[in-house]
Amino acid sequence: MVTHQDVDHAGGLADVRERAEPVAFAHRECAPYVDGRDHPLKMNGKRYPAARVDVELTAGARFATVAGPMEVVHTPGHAPGHISLYFPDERALVSGDALHAPEGELDGPRGPLDEETAVESVATLADLAVERTLCHHGRVVEHDPDAVERVRDRAQD
Ligand SMILES: [Zn+2]
Repeated sequence: MVTHQDVDHAGGLADVRERAEPVAFAHRECAPYVDGRDHPLKMNGKRYPAARVDVELTAGARFATVAGPMEVVHTPGHAPGHISLYFPDERALVSGDALHAPEGELDGPRGPLDEETAVESVATLADLAVERTLCHHGRVVEHDPDAVERVRDRAQD
């Protein structure tokens, strides 16, 4: 599951494809950057090796997992086609870079390409029932149910 096109998230997919037989998922607005149809937006010059995306996702796609249902949440702004993954039974969220957690405290996205859209995505996440968030830049953060709402309120100021 590729959350977005940035090199630290999608750059190793070609390597994984060489070593295993993964089924690669990415949002349909992200896939062209990963598979080589478009150049990754934050990379000047040379890009990471392009890699096939097997399944192009849209918001609301749901998967059965051992942690209960997993829902794809479209959270663009940090990058086009960015996704987060929501596990309602576990009240857990994999935020990708839609949120980050410097010093273990939840905060808004780091370095969004489109600030306004990124803030809207934080508002989308604030509507979910979440008490545990895995941020790519940060770690797993256990928090009270209103923590993402507070990030949204700070971001909207
Ligand atoms: Zn990123």
